[in-house]
Amino acid sequence: MTAKIGVLAVQGAFIEHIQALTSLGVECVELRQAADLEQPLAGLVLPGGESTVQGKLLRDLDMYTALRDKIVAGLPVLATCAGMILLAEKLSNDDKVHFATMPITVRRNAYGRQLGSFRTYASFGALGEIPMTFIRAPYIEAVGEGVQVLSEVDDKIVAAQYGKQLALAFHPELDTAESTAVHEYFLRMCRNK
Ligand code: GLN
Repeated sequence: MTAKIGVLAVQGAFIEHIQALTSLGVECVELRQAADLEQPLAGLVLPGGESTVQGKLLRDLDMYTALRDKIVAGLPVLATCAGMILLAEKLSNDDKVHFATMPITVRRNAYGRQLGSFRTYASFGALGEIPMTFIRAPYIEAVGEGVQVLSEVDDKIVAAQYGKQLALAFHPELDTAESTAVHEYFLRMCRNK
């Protein structure tokens, strides 16, 4: 892969994604300002954090349109947690959507306060069981046509794919000591572009 993986680095847990991808031998570039989007990218990571803050910063930093255009054009995306909220076409408990490029309905902070954070194991597509860490996580309430459900925990959809957009409610970047399967899967999507 000659082009780098761009990791949105305006807020949230981006360093862990960079560490995970670097450990797999891939070069990453932090996307912090509009000028960072002018280089060719092999893929895009939208990390966890706070989607409201990220959405505002994307617009304030003038990155929103260029990034959205790349996603729509088919740039492979790995979106975790807040990143998944950025991709959702609809949020069931928030009026403000962001990229809205993936036909899914997402509920923010869906597990309430008490179950806000937890860790479990569940199967992920063809990859088998992987560890999943949830932090004030959203889940997917409904999927539109063409969306493939990859993972469910307690009857809630926690991972789905739509073309080259891969959205996860959990944080694979926090479990790389045990499994890098999700990042490897994403890199295969980037290589087969
Ligand atoms: N609760 C956050 C939001 O709504 C997402 C949490 C996370 O990314 N860990 O943006």
